Amino acid sequence: MPHIKPLFRSSPLSTPTINYYDWLLRRPELKSWSDFTLHIDAVTGEQRQARAVLERFEHAATALATSPRDGGLGLLSGRREVVGILGENCLEYPVLVFALLKLAVPVALLPSQSTLQETVELLKLSSVTYLFASEQLYPHAAAAAKTIGLPEERIFILQGDVTGKVSLPNLIDDVKVRGLPKIATRPVQDDTLAYLMFSSGTTGLPKAVMVSHRNIIFSTSQLGGINEEIAKVYTIAEHRENSHSFGSLTLHVNHSPPLESWPDREDIFQVTICSSHNITTRLIRATFKIPDYAFHDVHSYMRPAGAAHLPPELRVAFERRAKNLPFFFEGYGLSECTYAALVLPFPGTCGGRVNPVRGMTGILCPSLEARILREDGSDADYNEIGELILRGPTIALGYWKNEKATKETFKDGWLYTGDRFYVDRQGRFFYVDRGKDTFKVSGKQVSPTEIENTIREHPSQLIIDVAVAGVKGERWSSELVPRAWVVLSNTGKAQGVEAVLAALDEWARLRLSKHKWLRGGLQVVDEIPRLPTGKILRRKLQDEYARSDHGPIQTKPLAKL
Ligand code: AMP
Repeated sequence: MPHIKPLFRSSPLSTPTINYYDWLLRRPELKSWSDFTLHIDAVTGEQRQARAVLERFEHAATALATSPRDGGLGLLSGRREVVGILGENCLEYPVLVFALLKLAVPVALLPSQSTLQETVELLKLSSVTYLFASEQLYPHAAAAAKTIGLPEERIFILQGDVTGKVSLPNLIDDVKVRGLPKIATRPVQDDTLAYLMFSSGTTGLPKAVMVSHRNIIFSTSQLGGINEEIAKVYTIAEHRENSHSFGSLTLHVNHSPPLESWPDREDIFQVTICSSHNITTRLIRATFKIPDYAFHDVHSYMRPAGAAHLPPELRVAFERRAKNLPFFFEGYGLSECTYAALVLPFPGTCGGRVNPVRGMTGILCPSLEARILREDGSDADYNEIGELILRGPTIALGYWKNEKATKETFKDGWLYTGDRFYVDRQGRFFYVDRGKDTFKVSGKQVSPTEIENTIREHPSQLIIDVAVAGVKGERWSSELVPRAWVVLSNTGKAQGVEAVLAALDEWARLRLSKHKWLRGGLQVVDEIPRLPTGKILRRKLQDEYARSDHGPIQTKPLAKL
């Protein structure tokens, strides 16, 4: 099959090498939306007008760049800095992100619901040199920073008050009082880093995906290009954590420059920032949980979108509930291609060339190329299932300081997604399943290797081998949840199966975020099936489990996610 070429190419998909901040916010037409309410905090109701938000971005950038002698952080002093953000979605989150983008200092977007152990690993992985944490997460941030030797004076508060600590609002106020001049936007190259986003990729442990300024420029512009309908949406609710690629996408689309063809331009820029305190699961489920908020005006609300496969019954339930929803919006993407790669076109867009059908995932976003590969690496035919690979300007630069994983996933300019699809002659892509080891629970990545390593770290040497894989969960037809298979050691045998499994289950819960808990149970086996190379045959375990009467042990009632 030939390469699938983009079906829809919007005009401005070639961009000069420019800092994303200037590309997005230094446009003359933005002057016309100064008085619009741009950000609303869904919890406190606090509102900020566009002018105030943009000024705050500038002041924050000045504070971060100004030397410590003058009350700033001195981030441009020459050392290679990486700033971590650990916070729930809040009004100051975009302020810090945009200020750092302006300074071309990379930002590590740390998931706010991680356990201490996970945060420590991510801080090490991304070589964070400064850390901003919300008031609630400060104790967690301080403990993690201490473990990796990051000095206390390099931790700042993102939003809120912590006695004795300097916060971003303090820094901004100081700049205003001193009347410090605006700082110029730092120029960038094609490979200048904007973000480090965390992903487990197709296999192995979490990795930091390197996303460049150029990547985000193309990603942000392609969404406007493919669905002009999005432009008519005037309340965009941020449900996902900003640290996730989909959350950071809303962060950017919300501030997108109006494309020429966008009507009602002044209606676009209202963003409701939901604190992730209220949002514990993924987008659609979250929407169900806050019905008054989400359904009061669904037709003017951004259509619910992807980040994981949407189980068909959930889609039907949502459509029934949101009766006036004109069309369901789904997107497929991964951190390694910045945001979206496939998006459902709204009816009537794409020059009528694509006829959306139920079950399709989307068409290819502008500026991307896609192929579907058979296992032997040859191109699959139309309607034949294979691995989706992608090429284009939104494909990330690779994994930070991880050459091996980069080489495995990014080959000859193509991103190997590990996801299986088929595509028909109209260019409609249909998601089939994940050909990879990693999987998603509630839209969040689960790495079997990470859970296996955690179980192996149990100090009592209860087991000699372990494997983890996703098995069918109880909630949705397509849901997978983690299950562990363990081989007991003599010490473990002496303690008894139930005691060992309960101990391992408890151990994992204390160290891993909820979505990684062993909700699929644990089971003792004589041996873990492996290839001679040592690679675990997870598929074999999954198939055996699916054929069985569902395994003997569920250690104790598991908390609902
Ligand atoms: P992340 O890097 O956390 O965004 O995870 C990316 C992975 O989520 C992809 O490789 C897919 O396996 C899965 N995913 C994202 N969107 C969809 C979708 N619409 N349908 C099916 N899987 C999806």
